[in-house]
Parts: sequence; C-alpha cells; structure tokens
Amino acid sequence: MPNAILIKPDQKSIEEKAIAGGMKKCPFCAEIIKDEAVKCRYCHEWLGDKEQSESTESSLISVNEESEYIKNLREHFSSMSIDQLAVFKETYNEDEYTPEARVVINDEFDLL
Ligand SMILES: [Zn+2]
Repeated sequence: MPNAILIKPDQKSIEEKAIAGGMKKCPFCAEIIKDEAVKCRYCHEWLGDKEQSESTESSLISVNEESEYIKNLREHFSSMSIDQLAVFKETYNEDEYTPEARVVINDEFDLL
C-alpha cells in the first residue's frame, strides 16, 4: 500500500473552509486549530497572539538566589535584613561593590 500521500488533494479546500469557519492555522506546524487557541494542540507551541504568561521578565530582586554576591554581602553585612539586601542589590551592581562603596553603604544602612 502506498503511504507516501501526505497531503490529500482536497486538503487546501478543507483548510479554507475551516479558516472561514473561525479556525486558524498554527504558524508552527500548519495544523488547523481553533481561533481562540493560545496553545497549539498539535505541536504544543504557544501562539504569540494573546498575552504571554510565561517569561515575564520580572524586575523583582531575587534575594533568595544565593549568588556569590549575596553570600559576600551577608558575610560583610550580617546585620543587614533581607529588605535591606534587596535595596542594596537594586542600588549597587556587583562591580560597584568597591571599598569606597562599602563605606557609603555602611553609612546608608547604618550598619556596623
Ligand atoms: Zn502547531
């Protein structure tokens, strides 16, 4: 049995009818899916149309991330609260964490 026929001759008209009936074509796999679909049922790709809930670039400071930087800060400013650390991290980049900056920081946060 020949199974090399991937596209039926009437595939195009089926698609056209489907699209006319409120369906749309997935830009990723070209399957016909519902127009309201935000995620393709065939290839599971997210369709960019609607608001994307994933990868929301949050500006929140993740102090929970135990980076070397934070560890370093904790060592130097053991009395600093999480909130203060967050403010600190927001204000100073890692490369700004110079001895001069430390003095300012100590002053600012009333540490030591
Ligand atoms: Zn798809």
